[in-house]
Amino acid sequence: MGFTTQILHSDRRFGVEHGNLIKPVHPGVTYGYDDARELAAVFQGKQKGYTYGRQINPTVEALHQKMNLMEGGIASLAFATGMAAIGTMLFALLRRGDHVIASKYLFGNTASLFESFSRHGIEVSFVDLGDAEEAQYAIKDNSKLLFVETIANPRTQVADLEGLGRLCKTHGLVYVVDNTLTTPYLFQPKNVDANLVVNSLTKYIGGHGNALGGCVTDLGSFDWATFANILPDYQSGDPALFAMNQMKKKGLRDFGASLGADAAHRLSVGSDTLSLRMERACDNAQKLAEFFQDHPAVEQTYYPGLNSHDHYERVAHLFKRPGAILSFELKPEFDCFERLNRLKTVIKATHLGDVRTLAIPVAHSIFYELGAERRAAMGIKDNLIRLSVGIEDIEDLLSDFDQALA
Ligand SMILES: *Cc1c(COP(=O)(O)O)cnc(C)c1O
Repeated sequence: MGFTTQILHSDRRFGVEHGNLIKPVHPGVTYGYDDARELAAVFQGKQKGYTYGRQINPTVEALHQKMNLMEGGIASLAFATGMAAIGTMLFALLRRGDHVIASKYLFGNTASLFESFSRHGIEVSFVDLGDAEEAQYAIKDNSKLLFVETIANPRTQVADLEGLGRLCKTHGLVYVVDNTLTTPYLFQPKNVDANLVVNSLTKYIGGHGNALGGCVTDLGSFDWATFANILPDYQSGDPALFAMNQMKKKGLRDFGASLGADAAHRLSVGSDTLSLRMERACDNAQKLAEFFQDHPAVEQTYYPGLNSHDHYERVAHLFKRPGAILSFELKPEFDCFERLNRLKTVIKATHLGDVRTLAIPVAHSIFYELGAERRAAMGIKDNLIRLSVGIEDIEDLLSDFDQALA
């Protein structure tokens, strides 16, 4: 079955109460048992069942199934936010003394999170992962994991995702891909031998800016029996599930960044239209990028669907479409605040992956805390504007920018 058919019919196929077509919202946090022995068996993992809402919830489980289908994974675990998914995964899988290789062009909060981990005894190298041949020099004896995003925000660089997959396989590193900007509709990290995928469900998968959520999916390709950090308690059963079991207990249960049933429901309903929204947003992004590229007020346009983009060929080879994030630099004589303030349809807001088009002056907002030096190193100029392109009618978006930049 195709991507969309599969997810539309997922809840129903996994058996829904009362023949409902979508999994109902189950807000209850605790589960009663008539037989105390059964309660004990569920606690001991000898029998499937529900215990407490921090660890398991039927509405959230239905979303796990959908994410497994989308990413082609063997197990998924949802969290309260995308950051909770990333933080909990790293917390559960890494130890003091481990080394991690992370992209130099990470989402700001993820970069900040890695810096915090480095203060807790985990070594982190921020590396340009645009070329796996270069990246291999960052590997050390204690390297455990490599973390990369598919399209970097805001400059839209695309890592050597295929080469990195080979590199991680050769060196036994856990290869983690944050697929938020592409979503499993445009790109399946499975195809480049990723081991774990992270998605912020808050972005395109939910799509409507009405719920936070995050997810980690295990693609079943890492031999966790060889991973030194799996604790003896989680080394029973199928080795493919060792990491997920440890993440569930040492991560989700103990840290408690659980996704609520209401949010899971909203994200799940949103995900039904993921493919339609992505197609439309990518169409709009391509047309806007071409408009900015030719516009006299614009110094530079960054969009991987333009053949002037450094990674145009790579993107055409790896992704179904080049995504719906783009950024452009106004010429120095233009004031980005003044131009942004002229926009009437496009909204000045943070966030991405929404159905509405959002614009933000990057250096003055999401990358402000990094400071001028790190911004310069990341190629983020003061006049850079990032767009998360939505699904509006393209004529309205074009005419809005036309008048704002005139
Ligand atoms: C937004 C985002 C996150 C964090 O997701 P939240 O749901 O906002 O916590 C992680 N990675 C990328 C690439 C993002 O864009």
